[in-house]
Amino acid sequence: MAKDIPTYGEVIIEAEAVLVPDGAGQKVIRNASVQVSNDRIVKVSEERIRSNAKRIELKGQLLVPGFISGHTHVGCAAPTRAIIEPRRGNYALALKLMDEDLDDAELDAITAFSLADLIRTGCTTQVEMSLSVRQAESYARVAERFGARGYPSGMTPGMGRLYEIWRSAAGPFKVMNDEDFQSYVPGTLAEIEANLQFGLKWNNACDDRIRPMMAAHATDTHTPETITALIKAAKSLGNGLQIHLAQSVEESEQVFRRWGLRSVEWVDSLGMFEVPVFGAHMFGANLHYDPTILANRDYLFATCPFDIGVNGNLQPYPEMLAAGVSCGVGVDAHNMDFIETLKMAVVKGQARHYGISTPGVLSRNPMIEDAVLGATRISADILKRPDLGRIEEGAKADLVSIDVSGGVVGSGSMSPEPLSNLLYASGHQVRNVLIDGHWKVFNGEMLFAEAAELNAASAAATEKIWEKLRAAGYFDTLVPDLPRGKARAE
Ligand SMILES: [Zn+2]
Repeated sequence: MAKDIPTYGEVIIEAEAVLVPDGAGQKVIRNASVQVSNDRIVKVSEERIRSNAKRIELKGQLLVPGFISGHTHVGCAAPTRAIIEPRRGNYALALKLMDEDLDDAELDAITAFSLADLIRTGCTTQVEMSLSVRQAESYARVAERFGARGYPSGMTPGMGRLYEIWRSAAGPFKVMNDEDFQSYVPGTLAEIEANLQFGLKWNNACDDRIRPMMAAHATDTHTPETITALIKAAKSLGNGLQIHLAQSVEESEQVFRRWGLRSVEWVDSLGMFEVPVFGAHMFGANLHYDPTILANRDYLFATCPFDIGVNGNLQPYPEMLAAGVSCGVGVDAHNMDFIETLKMAVVKGQARHYGISTPGVLSRNPMIEDAVLGATRISADILKRPDLGRIEEGAKADLVSIDVSGGVVGSGSMSPEPLSNLLYASGHQVRNVLIDGHWKVFNGEMLFAEAAELNAASAAATEKIWEKLRAAGYFDTLVPDLPRGKARAE
C-alpha cells in the first residue's frame, strides 16, 4: 500500500469535520477541504477545491490543528510509568539513575519511545523541559530524527543536583540555612550557561522546527541572581522560559520567607514575564492574587492532569480559566497519550470546579472546547506563533485527524458535536498526523519509526533502570498513604 501514502508537497485533505478559528474561539465546519502546499496550509474551503493535487478523504474524522503540549518531560515516561502509582509519586530515584547510568544511545531510546507516542497521538509541538542538559540534547536529536516541532530546554538545577538543593529523594523539603542555599548559586549559574550553549547550538535548527527555551526548576531552588541569569539567557534565545511555578504551598512559603514575596510576585518583580513564560502545576498559587497577575502577563498555565503519573490531584485549572489566564494542557512526565491528557484535563478540571471552592475566588467549569483551544491556538499565541495552532490560510501544515465516528468513540456517523466525542477517545483514534507538511502518521500507520524497534531499544534501557531499582529495594517498599495536605489555596 506504500504507493497510497501521500508525500510532502501538494495535497488536498477532505474531512467530514474541520476545526477552524471563529473569532477568539473555534468552530467545527462540515465537509471542508484543506489544501496543503509543502509546509503550509494554502486554502480552507467549504466548497470543493479545484486542483489536480492528490486528495485524501477523511470520512468520519475530525481534522484539528496539531496539538501543543505546554509542559513536557519526554525523557522520563518509559522507566517511571506504572511503577510510581502504587508508591504515590516516588520517582526521584528512577530519574536520577536515568541521568547518571544511561549512555546517550540508551537515553535516546527512552526519549524516542515517548516522543513517538506523543506524535502518533496528535501532539506535534512539545514545550519540553528536559530534566538535564544531556536529556535536552537527547530530545533535540530525536526530534530532529522524527521531524517533531519543539521548544526544548534543560531544567536548572538539573536532576544531577536537584535533590541536594530541593528535597531528600521525594521526601520532605530540605531545611538548610540561607548561606548553604547560596552556596549552590555558582553551580546553577554554570548549568544555566551550559543550557544556553545547548540553546544557541539548536536555535532555529531543523527547518526552524526547534526553538530552545530556558527553564527554571521552580522558585524555591533559585535566587534573584540565578533567575536574572535565566531571563537574560532566555532573551538571547528569543523563545521564552519554562518553570514549575508555585507548584506547592511549601514552595510559596519558602520563597516568601527568603525574599518577602510569594512565588508569582517574586518572579514578576525580577522581570521574568519580559519573556513568554510556560508554567506548570500551581497547586501553591494564591488564588486571590496570582491569577490576576498572570492574566495580565505573557503567561501560559499548562494544566497537567497526569502530573505525577495517574493520580487524583486537581490543579487550579478552573480558577485560572475564570480569571482569564491563558490556559493550555501539558502531558508532563509519565503519560504520553495527548488525547487522554486533553480528556483528563477536562474531567479533573470539572472535579475541582464542583468539589473545591475557595471563598471569593471565581471558578469556571472547563469544557473540551477549552482544552482543545488551550492546546492549540492559545498555546501558539503565547509562543508568538500566529502560524501554529489554527487551520487557516498561511498557517503551518501541522494537522491531526481523529476518528470520532467509529466504535467506542462515536455512533457510526459524524455526531452533531464531534469535539465532545474526544471525551470518549484516546490516542488510538488518531488516524493522520502532519508536521510542517510532512506525513508522520497515515491512516493509523506510523511512518517515522518502527514500533518494534522503538520497543526493543526502550526495553533494554528501561530494564537497566529497573534492575538498579530492584537492587535498591524500591519494589519492596510501599510509601504509606499520606495524610491529607494543607488546603491547596492559601
Ligand atoms: Zn514538570
